[in-house]
Amino acid sequence: MATIDYARRVESYYPSKVREVFALAAKPDMISFAGGAPALDDLDFDFLADASARILREQGRAALQYSIGQGVPVLREAITQVMSLEGMTAEANRQVVTVGSQFALNLVAQNFVDPGDVVLAESPSYAGGMAVFRAYEGEVRQVATDADGLVPAAEGRRCRLVYTIPTYQNPGGTLMPEHCRVELMEICERHDVYVIEDNPYGLLGFDGATHRALKADHPERVFYLGSFSKIFAPGLRLGWVDPPAEHVAMLVGTNETGVLNPPTFTQLLVAAYLRDDGWQDALGHMRQVYARKAGVMVDALREHMPAGVTWNDVAGGFYVWLTLPEHVDAYDMVAPAIDRGVVYVPGVAFYVDGRGTHELRMSFCLPSTEQIATGVEVLADVLRQESAR
Ligand code: PMP
Repeated sequence: MATIDYARRVESYYPSKVREVFALAAKPDMISFAGGAPALDDLDFDFLADASARILREQGRAALQYSIGQGVPVLREAITQVMSLEGMTAEANRQVVTVGSQFALNLVAQNFVDPGDVVLAESPSYAGGMAVFRAYEGEVRQVATDADGLVPAAEGRRCRLVYTIPTYQNPGGTLMPEHCRVELMEICERHDVYVIEDNPYGLLGFDGATHRALKADHPERVFYLGSFSKIFAPGLRLGWVDPPAEHVAMLVGTNETGVLNPPTFTQLLVAAYLRDDGWQDALGHMRQVYARKAGVMVDALREHMPAGVTWNDVAGGFYVWLTLPEHVDAYDMVAPAIDRGVVYVPGVAFYVDGRGTHELRMSFCLPSTEQIATGVEVLADVLRQESAR
């Protein structure tokens, strides 16, 4: 096949090895620990069907028309309520609604990352986020983390942005403790570095407790990214960014350049969903489902994994992060695991520098509890065979 002459920066995107894993994860009957897809069983589809019909009947022309680049006001009002759950006193004229928080990452990177600029990220970090910074030719440096998330003391150097997922991190599952949050913000204030607080999982703490967002006490330092993908439905493709006030206009302009406006109809549907109190009950139920699934996964790991395998405590979100004995390569285990019907994401996907060879991410969000128990047992068996080779 002829080599296609893509732009040079393409080399730094998402490693193709990991794309293959996702393609295989989509096969029917596969027990997939690979994606971050939410369980949608608890959505009230009748309510959503009625709300959709009402929107089309009562404001169909507006719903199916272009709208403004910042996002429809009624949704931005609703977003302020969602943000208040994590201690933020948001203003609706500040948020920019985006096509998923993925596009919010693009907006921030497009405006703040010049080729060669350093973006600090946690290690490990969300592959899709780092791919965006690299697409804008930023140099992602992943700083030391421990079981608690980012160790802020590690980043004294000059850079443009710190990218953090402080609450139920992807992929580490960690919750950044209060003292690290304080230290991180102090350092970023002192060095005049912006923080991207990527927070799709913040409302998914198993005990229902919420944590004060970094944004709450540092509104002009933080680009806060929210998403409806994990607390509602990813197919709607809606998220938002709440930037420092002086950058709102720039981000709106960039959003318009990218997508003209976020989809009008799904914005109205999300606004209707949030207007009804039922969404908090559905979310509470989802939290219980995820807590149960995480419990089943951790119990199965405890029961089946050989000595030398460790994992994080998981108190919310979608992920368990596994560390294997150093001589085992988690990527080499992918093919034999897939042969036996189980797929996960090898740790190398979550580093830009080749680390993560003996680490892996398992999501518990989508498979059933039975699949989780079976899948973990299979993986433990594959691991034993790989260790013996
Ligand atoms: N940030 C993180 C940390 C994520 O885990 C994801 C999705 N897996 C995203 C951003 C993108 O989410 P969205 O569907 O809102 O674009």
